[in-house]
Amino acid sequence: MSHTPINWCSTDVALLDMDGVLLDLAFDDHFWRHALPDRYARVHGLDETTTRARFADWYAQHHGTIQWYDLHFWSRQVGFDVPHLKIHERHHIQVLPGTVRFLQHLKQHRCKRILLTNCHPTAMRLKLAVTGIGRHLDQIVSAFHLDDIKESPSFWPKLEAHLKYPPDRTVLIEDSAANLDAAAEAGFAHLLHMSRPNSKKAAQPHPDYRSEPSLTALLDEARQSPHNGTGCECTAPTPTAPPH
Ligand SMILES: [Mg+2]
Repeated sequence: MSHTPINWCSTDVALLDMDGVLLDLAFDDHFWRHALPDRYARVHGLDETTTRARFADWYAQHHGTIQWYDLHFWSRQVGFDVPHLKIHERHHIQVLPGTVRFLQHLKQHRCKRILLTNCHPTAMRLKLAVTGIGRHLDQIVSAFHLDDIKESPSFWPKLEAHLKYPPDRTVLIEDSAANLDAAAEAGFAHLLHMSRPNSKKAAQPHPDYRSEPSLTALLDEARQSPHNGTGCECTAPTPTAPPH
């Protein structure tokens, strides 16, 4: 697996994960580990030990499936409106350091910025509304649009058929090793791992991938690319307006 710097001048497309790459995974960790179990315990009159054990079982059972990301599935599971609870907790949603500056830099160098997320469309719309990062993106793809998830090797041929990106000029930036493994298995060459998806936790570099703690580190590299100060020679089309 390559650990060499990305040549940003020959990168036409950046596929960017949302939670843990652009946005702080601290929100998701807080929601799924605390906010949702705590509300479940209150609604059903359960003690903490019983609640924690039940959620541990559910998470073990559904991790790595599309249900894991499906808020409507979780609403049925817990017996109340999970999207409504997400709205209640939205003040915890934050961008990670360097996100906007990195996206602006990609735009300056005509690199198409595509959000590629397993996040359920309902939660994705909430996060985009709270953070405003949608205006810094050229295209948005939810795994739910392809009825598959990034952990599955079958996802990547579907994505390539959908987006028709140039594989040799496309970079994928992810915090999930499982997603990177599936993309690598599908033949994806340019992979970057973000090692500090949750700003409240220490970085955990991945040994098999080029691994950086933040987009700020990548931005420093992009600014030092050969095109810096001489005008970028990238051949990508001018980015289109973000979808609505
Ligand atoms: Mg992620």
